[in-house]
Amino acid sequence: MNVGPGHISPATLELLQIRALRFHDIVDELLALLENDLRDDSTGEDNPVSLSVPELMSVFLAELVDSERRRGTRPKAPDWYGPNEQLLFAVGHSGNALMDHAEQMFKELDSHHTHDTGCRCYELIDLLDERVNPAIDEFRALWAAIADLRRHWRSHPPTARPED
Ligand SMILES: [Zn+2]
Repeated sequence: MNVGPGHISPATLELLQIRALRFHDIVDELLALLENDLRDDSTGEDNPVSLSVPELMSVFLAELVDSERRRGTRPKAPDWYGPNEQLLFAVGHSGNALMDHAEQMFKELDSHHTHDTGCRCYELIDLLDERVNPAIDEFRALWAAIADLRRHWRSHPPTARPED
């Protein structure tokens, strides 16, 4: 990947935020699909479309922090907790949920020595192939892209203006 020296355009962060939001939607949809026994007829959008990406991101993060707080884990927000760390937190949260469910799917597949009529193994395998694996790929790619941006910011702090 070519992350050259110099400044990083603000668009990069926004692009990653868009990807993080899309990734969150993909995972949400997958989890809903699995919880509804693979029968999902609702393709309803519940994102308020009128919000900008930074607004959507902060709504999403507020929900995450809220749900973590309810589970008693209470994330702290120290000084270094900037937009990049928020991204990592958000993507990590969705990624964990995705990995947990992938593991459950594998366990379910593993537990069948024979397949009864009506078991959903073939559906699970299709789902893994078509949706879960691509989502895991996106999780890895997104995580790596955020880490790259983070490294870049460390060596080129936005306030330092090394090119002046
Ligand atoms: Zn089976």
